[in-house]
Amino acid sequence: MERRKPSVLLHVCCGPCSTAVIERLRGKFDLTLFFANANLHPREEYERRLEAARHVAARYEIPLVVADDDHGAWLEAVQGLEWEKEGGARCDICFQVRLEETAREAESRGMDWFTTTLSISPHKNAKRISEIGRRATMNRKVRFLDENFRKREGFRRSVKLSREMGLYRQDYCGCEFSMNRLS
Ligand code: SF4
Repeated sequence: MERRKPSVLLHVCCGPCSTAVIERLRGKFDLTLFFANANLHPREEYERRLEAARHVAARYEIPLVVADDDHGAWLEAVQGLEWEKEGGARCDICFQVRLEETAREAESRGMDWFTTTLSISPHKNAKRISEIGRRATMNRKVRFLDENFRKREGFRRSVKLSREMGLYRQDYCGCEFSMNRLS
């Protein structure tokens, strides 16, 4: 009898970053994608990134769950940190909001693990993502799959795959405070 693969709820920050992560995990895990990115601004940008995530989900035949898009609540969470530089305290809160939402969703679905595509980006602090992901498991019955997806040429592979799929690739991190700045 075939053994059940452990289930993972994979937070996807955007379609391009998800490609190489899916490729790496899907042989070992039963994946569900989770688009929880209330940081995105403006709404048109949210829709473009969601569309790219849908494209990837269809390409790999993996279910995609879309969280509520409450940008107002996200703005409240980062209040006072608007003008922090990228990679600073605002980004820590932004990771925390999205990873806690993913942990909650994974637990409510009875899944084994959750993780995020965020660590594949060379513009993000993988160590902070790891710490915040681990913290999000506190008092929860779900584990954080703590992997730095940038390792073993992960980012380079995601660029190649997203070009092949013709995916939209953004040129800023996502929130209004990162617009016109590469993060
Ligand atoms: S720059 Fe990126 S990670 Fe930082 S708060 Fe904005 S959207 Fe979030």
